Amino acid sequence: MNESKNACRLCLQDKKLIKAHIIPEGFFRLLRQGSIAPEMHSNTPGSFPRRMQVGTYDSTILCSECDGKIAPWDNYGQQVLIHGFSTAVKISLQGKTVAWRIEKFDYRTLKLFFMSVLWRASVSKQTFYKRISLGPFEDRLRTMILSEDPGGSQDFAVVLGRFEEVQITAMLDPYPEKHDGISFCRFFLSGFVAYIKVDSRPTPSFLTDLRFQEGKPLV
Ligand SMILES: [Zn+2]
Repeated sequence: MNESKNACRLCLQDKKLIKAHIIPEGFFRLLRQGSIAPEMHSNTPGSFPRRMQVGTYDSTILCSECDGKIAPWDNYGQQVLIHGFSTAVKISLQGKTVAWRIEKFDYRTLKLFFMSVLWRASVSKQTFYKRISLGPFEDRLRTMILSEDPGGSQDFAVVLGRFEEVQITAMLDPYPEKHDGISFCRFFLSGFVAYIKVDSRPTPSFLTDLRFQEGKPLV
């Protein structure tokens, strides 16, 4: 393991590090109202909401080559969740929206997007991400990202939720939580909530049908 202060956290090589985004800028831009930057809220004791202009970046985690590897995943995540969401089919039950379905999505790219956001949050020194710390899962995730391996649907399983008709102007900081005893990290991405499993046990049954799966629609 390279212990150098300037080593890229992904390739572990001594390289010039760039300003890397963790949650892509597009999710912050979406929240920006007029010229006012979104507030970033953290429930961490002692921290106060701050307005930031371009979301948040960390200049201690990635070299430009590694950032370039992640960039297409960031673009795809923003394309699916921001620009392409109008094509999602609304599923209603007794007049209420209960779910959204996107018939076709690229499992590999979208999964790697969420895995890389999780990993970046874990290695980041930014206060906004301080509650995300993956312990032994961090290096496993790094290896998978480096080899562009999205894993099976149970490896760092991702479940997405969406807020309906909620005026959201703040970005909330991600945090760990448990569902039926299984560990997840919860991320807020403007109108969406992503639950990413950080646990070697399977997804709890009430969430299992909702996890990203290759060849199945995104629900
Ligand atoms: Zn690198």
